[in-house]
Amino acid sequence: MIESVIVLLCAIVAALVVFVLKLLGDNRALNAQLTPVTFDRDKLKEANEILEKKFERVQKEYDDKFSIKAIRDRYKFDEKRGVMVTPEQHYFCTSCLLEGVESQLTTLANGWRCERKACEKFYKNPDYRDPTAAREEYIATRDRGGI
Ligand SMILES: [Zn+2]
Repeated sequence: MIESVIVLLCAIVAALVVFVLKLLGDNRALNAQLTPVTFDRDKLKEANEILEKKFERVQKEYDDKFSIKAIRDRYKFDEKRGVMVTPEQHYFCTSCLLEGVESQLTTLANGWRCERKACEKFYKNPDYRDPTAAREEYIATRDRGGI
């Protein structure tokens, strides 16, 4: 009788050992899966730090380029036309520059146009005279006997 109890206890102990060994194996397998995740997290943290430094550098370059002082150093405001002018006489959109966008203006016969889709501002040339109006003015002056 006692021998069968001992055999039964040995069988239970053996089953427990097998169960514990299986748990240890499962634990190792799970740890193996966790290691790459930890590795990825470290790589992502490193990549994030690099991007943050790059962003700070770009932000500083942007601030240096588009601060009010930088704009005043680089451009002169043409009060007659309302545009910003470089020393090379290139015209830039005042509205866009104040938003931090450098948009060179297209020169037309009657003024200058900003080609930026979000702006499309037109700066009228105060020296421009419409040929039709000039002709009508000429005729009117002539008819009054001025010419
Ligand atoms: Zn503009």
